[in-house]
Amino acid sequence: MEENHPESPKRLKSLETLFSQSPYKELIETVECPLDETLLRYGHTQNYLSMLEEFSPDPDDNELVRLDDDTSMNGYSLNAAKLGVASACQAIDTLLKTDTQHIFQASRPPGHHAEPHRSMGFCLLNTVYLAARHALNTGCKKVAILDFDVHHGNGTEVMMRANPRDNALFISTHEADLWPYTGQMDENGFGNSYNYILPKASGSQEMRALYTDKIFPQIDAFNPELVILSAGFDAYKADPLATLQWEVDDYAWLGESLAPYKTFSNLEGGYQVDDLKSCVDAYLKSLFQL
Ligand SMILES: [Zn+2]
Repeated sequence: MEENHPESPKRLKSLETLFSQSPYKELIETVECPLDETLLRYGHTQNYLSMLEEFSPDPDDNELVRLDDDTSMNGYSLNAAKLGVASACQAIDTLLKTDTQHIFQASRPPGHHAEPHRSMGFCLLNTVYLAARHALNTGCKKVAILDFDVHHGNGTEVMMRANPRDNALFISTHEADLWPYTGQMDENGFGNSYNYILPKASGSQEMRALYTDKIFPQIDAFNPELVILSAGFDAYKADPLATLQWEVDDYAWLGESLAPYKTFSNLEGGYQVDDLKSCVDAYLKSLFQL
């Protein structure tokens, strides 16, 4: 992205600082993550994937190619997005084949706005949807995707609705009247996708009530083997892109509430760099019970 763009490398540098310290540094494992690129076609069209390859600049050229109003890629972006999908699949394999209970992935670019045929909202490849399909392809009986980023996970929803299936559930909670202005509640259930809208500036209490009364009971009723999180931290009160006014404690509460499930969390938004670190720290300490 351009300099001073909110989706900047500073976001991951901030998390790298966090993960270089205890208790995280002891938990980090370095693994090889080969990508079977046929998986990308479970979510994206071949035309779109070919276009990305064609327009991806040479890393040596220091060039930025604009894909849409909000999304650009340099010579490293496409490979980074593919690596994000590859390591998500590796994480899914580990979760399904071992007694590992939780994995968090801090990757850029984010993915949940990427649709089958186009980039959108800083996103190139829809990591969570592709990870869910990989889970189902490799023996997982039921998978739920929960998107708590402040923006609607429009790309994930479009993919879910294009491939309706009973063994996948998608739930997105997001701020009312916020970009991308999709995710209304009137089509809930179509493609096993559900939207829940939180009013602007609604804060902690309203979020916790929604999750306690609706979201977690719905996930429990579905009874998934695995929960994949579109873990965006831009509902935080100081985030420059939204107004939901969540506190650091709310992310701790979410982590604690998700701890009983087997989970894979993929970083999506969260654009206030220092606070992103605090929110992720609170979420992970509760989720991993550190
Ligand atoms: Zn977001």
